[in-house]
Amino acid sequence: MAPRSKRAASKPVSKPATSKPATSKPATSKPAVSRAPASGPAPANAATEPNPNDPLATYRKKRDFARTPEPSGAAPTGTPQQGARRFVVQRHRARRLHYDFRLEIDGVLASWAVPKGPTLDAGVRRAAFHVEDHPLDYFDFEGIIPSGEYGGGDVIVWDVGTWEPDEAGDPPDPGAAVAAGELHLDMHGDKLRGRFVLVRTRTDAAGKEEWLLLHKHDDFSAAGWN
Ligand code: MN
Repeated sequence: MAPRSKRAASKPVSKPATSKPATSKPATSKPAVSRAPASGPAPANAATEPNPNDPLATYRKKRDFARTPEPSGAAPTGTPQQGARRFVVQRHRARRLHYDFRLEIDGVLASWAVPKGPTLDAGVRRAAFHVEDHPLDYFDFEGIIPSGEYGGGDVIVWDVGTWEPDEAGDPPDPGAAVAAGELHLDMHGDKLRGRFVLVRTRTDAAGKEEWLLLHKHDDFSAAGWN
């Protein structure tokens, strides 16, 4: 049988181009054009202007895509889907090891950094920090973020699968559940299975949200699982 997981295969590493950027720019570069106040009709290129409601604006702002191999999220966000949605957990050996827990919600990957990682042990609550939404094409990202860049360190896919919100409503609205600070979900991964709960416990003055990730007692919970 052929190996099913591409995670097991070592990827050929393509060397970055070694050409250096020009060391000096011409002094005659165009001065910044000041935009006229928006009094006339909307310009035809309005779609290319930064959108303050873009859920990926923070993601892009934190990263220099000339330096990090991470996806830029330039592709349009996916369409919101109902029923089974994808999830990924990536192990990220940044300055501090953590696991990035990402759920497909409303066309992006809603994301939490979990320092100790998720567990099936229903007796354990794991701290989780809500971080910026990531683009859907982060789903299978693995690679090395150069040191000095945001999140510098290596990333591997630790688990993937699908999940379903356990929410009332037709259709259920897990985005609203996250905004309200409590999401119950059923996970169908290779490692992570069964009923999990994410609950917000604290939002600090800077807006950083502390959450807890826990597994409910069910057929998949396993005491001592790590
Ligand atoms: Mn991370």
